[in-house]
Amino acid sequence: MDTTLAIPDLADATELACDVLVIGGGTAGTMAALTAAGRGANVLLLEKAHVRHSGALAMGMDGVNNAIIPGRAEPDDYVAEITRANDGVVDQSTVRQTATRGFDMVKRLESYGVKFEKDEHGEYAVRQVHRSGSYVLPMPEGKDVKKVLYRQLRRREMRERIRIENRVMPVRVLTSDGRAVGAAGFNTRTGEFVVVRAGAVILATGPCGRLGLPASGYLYGTYENPTNAGDGYAMAYHAGAALTGIECFQINPLIKDYNGPACAYVANPFGGYQVNRHGERFVESDYWSGQMMAEFAAELASDRAPVYLKLSHLPEETIGAVESILHTTERPTRGTFHEGRGHDYRTHDIEMHISEIGLCGGHSASGVRVDAHARTTVPRLYAAGDLACVPHNYMIGAFVFGDLAGEDASQFPCFEGELPADQLAAAHELIYRPLRNPDGPPQPQVEYKLRRFVNDYVAPPKTGAKLSLAVEAFERMRVEIEGMGARTPHELMRCAEVSFIRDCAEMAARSSLARTESRWGLYHERLDHPEQDDASWLHHLDLRKSPSGAMEFTARPVEPYVVPVPEFTPVAGPERALGEAVLVPVATAGRRETAPAARGAGVISAGLDVSASVTAEPSDAARPGHPGTETAQDPVVVSAPSASLLRLLALAEESPDLEALRPYLADPDPAVRTAAVTALGETVPSGAGPVLADRLRDGAPQVRAAAAAALRELVEVLPAEAELGTALREALGVRDPAVRTAALEVLRALRLAEAPVYAAALADADLEVRIHAVRGLVAVDAVEELAAAAADPAREVRVAVARGIAAVHAPVPEPLGPLLADPDPLVRGAALAALAATGCPPAYAERAATALSDPAWQARAGAAAALKAAAPAEAVPALAKALADPNADVRKAAVLSLLAHRAHPDAQSALATATRDPDADVRAYAARAAG
Ligand SMILES: Cc1cc2nc3c(=O)[nH]c(=O)nc-3n(C[C@H](O)[C@H](O)[C@H](O)COP(=O)(O)OP(=O)(O)OC[C@H]3O[C@@H](n4cnc5c(N)ncnc54)[C@H](O)[C@@H]3O)c2cc1C
Repeated sequence: MDTTLAIPDLADATELACDVLVIGGGTAGTMAALTAAGRGANVLLLEKAHVRHSGALAMGMDGVNNAIIPGRAEPDDYVAEITRANDGVVDQSTVRQTATRGFDMVKRLESYGVKFEKDEHGEYAVRQVHRSGSYVLPMPEGKDVKKVLYRQLRRREMRERIRIENRVMPVRVLTSDGRAVGAAGFNTRTGEFVVVRAGAVILATGPCGRLGLPASGYLYGTYENPTNAGDGYAMAYHAGAALTGIECFQINPLIKDYNGPACAYVANPFGGYQVNRHGERFVESDYWSGQMMAEFAAELASDRAPVYLKLSHLPEETIGAVESILHTTERPTRGTFHEGRGHDYRTHDIEMHISEIGLCGGHSASGVRVDAHARTTVPRLYAAGDLACVPHNYMIGAFVFGDLAGEDASQFPCFEGELPADQLAAAHELIYRPLRNPDGPPQPQVEYKLRRFVNDYVAPPKTGAKLSLAVEAFERMRVEIEGMGARTPHELMRCAEVSFIRDCAEMAARSSLARTESRWGLYHERLDHPEQDDASWLHHLDLRKSPSGAMEFTARPVEPYVVPVPEFTPVAGPERALGEAVLVPVATAGRRETAPAARGAGVISAGLDVSASVTAEPSDAARPGHPGTETAQDPVVVSAPSASLLRLLALAEESPDLEALRPYLADPDPAVRTAAVTALGETVPSGAGPVLADRLRDGAPQVRAAAAAALRELVEVLPAEAELGTALREALGVRDPAVRTAALEVLRALRLAEAPVYAAALADADLEVRIHAVRGLVAVDAVEELAAAAADPAREVRVAVARGIAAVHAPVPEPLGPLLADPDPLVRGAALAALAATGCPPAYAERAATALSDPAWQARAGAAAALKAAAPAEAVPALAKALADPNADVRKAAVLSLLAHRAHPDAQSALATATRDPDADVRAYAARAAG
């Protein structure tokens, strides 16, 4: 029996209407929908997966990469830093939006219940990852972000304005009189054709993550979320919008054989770093950039390879903390992967590699051109998130631009004219064509082949010849893609995605050909044009579809900077129309007859016949049924759910209030009580806090665990009511230490306890509980009680005490005294480092100078840090000597302290010596003295 889906008639389309159509329900899309609805627009949100779990956030976020928190970072410094990281080619007006609005967005997210790391005093615990600027704000519970957003979308006021259609995938934006008026797509479960008319369209479909093929060969084992196949890039292009910087690819460091990010943003603030096989740090460049990736690739290609993420030098408790983030929030499979290899961060450094190439505005700069309000060059068409070219925008920038797009788009009421019949017919053909040829080549096979070409010919280092071969291959593959076969709606989705990937691949190859210079390190390294040419190319390279259907390019001068950056001087001037990218002849007859040219002379400019330019057929090593294409899973054995559980699950969808949930919270079945606690955590009705705290005393461990998780997750949205405080304090008597830890954490965050409560918890048998007690004491500035904990038997607690003494308001050095003589080097190190915050008067400076000869490097590093706060006359000579320490981290700490004393002439000369240090980090920090 033929089970092929029947092609629906064009006239049978389901027609939907709205003011604002948002395509893609990930980070930017959900925020765009919330803002547009908040401004009174009727919103339709289309998501090809399910909004609750879709997009990059669904994998979990471990932090805000670019938080500009007042008092910790300056918006203008950030704009300058991104300008440098992007080699000057930046529209600063867009980056500035993220710089100036990011903090309000953090606050808005927090009001929704998203948790950001805070210190004991409730201040944002921003970390420094780059050598300048502190922009990383950890989110230890970032796994819940999507859940929190979904909860907002489902609030009653929002539900009235936002219609969500999951499993509906637009393939084309519809335009009329040159402006966006809707979209055409289909339901990926039923196959029905869906047509939308709208006042404005916001594209928020994420990056093109399925461009290059990962080293593993798995189609979906990509760095990026693999549902993001470049749909929005293709839709924007075909709607006539300009795209820009497409030649500036995204490439990231990865764990070898495991397609997850290496997570320098997590590991580095904890003291992790990247080393070659000799254990040497090699990364000279600062901000995350193509330059850094070039250094990475060069090290990988050298005999100093492989390269590693080094954590093995860190103490147990630090490794535990890193593991708890990397193995839960970011990728839960990561711990299993290392375990399978028999590797452990304590004993093995982690081999790293580099990812496949992709297009991404948010990690790099390849995207749809937008202005400072997320408007594309097509009226009423917007782009936000990774799809839009706002360099290094990451998650917070996706939220900011989603918000900007939602705000601007909300002014346009639904389009009432005729939808363009020709565009509808073309979209219908694009979607359903594979059903006419169900036995045609299947999508995995065609996609594998396409992406192999991307790896072979487009991935850097680039050459005109390889890129020209790429263009030829992608042109040829149009025909193969038209011949693909499918039988089901799901397969139709995959086939449409292959067409988007092809479009993106062609854009990537042609853009790379058109920019005849090298820029952005590895992202656009042209072997045949190795120099950066600011005179001709401090320009954006825009591409768009011409009226004839050709891909045309324009070099657009960078706008004068709002924030000056001395290294670059954008020169205003007219745009240069470049026409189509010129191909390089490859293996064509007749080349031998021309006069010899210098090697690397590069591109010849002539309108060449592409079809004649290639003689060698590249290998078609397609791999049908490749293991990466389907993820077979073991059947899961599930016991029959109780009737109450089923009723509760149905109720949970309706945002129940507390009274509706109460019977389930008291159900005899712990599974029901757990589900009720989870539902309570999702809907957060008034009075939820005390009820959740009450469940901390539940008899069943899974209920207690769910209550503890919910309380932690909701700490930003629960009112600090007395009843909650009482319930939490009662939970401190529960035998389960996880409950006591959670109770202390929430008491501290909501300021619901005083010093005696925490001081009593210092006697707890559980280490984690005692560490949380220390944090509580810091929060209430209880120095005396803190000092009493300096005799704790566990070094982890004593380290926390040392750090805590430095973290109270108006810290003083005296309570550190016993800890400076602690038998454990980590405690000594922490106590010495704390002197940098408490101040380091002469008696302590002397101890610090002596400690520079401590046998343990951690203590020596702490001593070097302490001397930052000492008088220069005592500090500088000791620090200068420390520059000869055998340990690179001690030398780095010495350099950082010398920078604080840079006004002293001996500090200047010591730093000059350190610019020749064998360690890249030490050298780079020392070089800052000159800046
Ligand atoms: C592994 C990883 C780790 C990261 N870690 C961090 C971090 O720690 N900190 C940080 O600041 N940033 C981080 N980022 C970056 C950050 O997550 C992204 O910049 C941001 O989430 C992008 O948001 P977006 O809306 O553009 O894309 P997404 O959130 O991915 O949303 C795109 C949505 O569009 C949907 N979609 C796609 N095509 C269609 C279509 N045709 N029709 C309908 N729907 C469609 C997708 O299913 C998806 O739901 C990370 C990214 C990755 C990949």
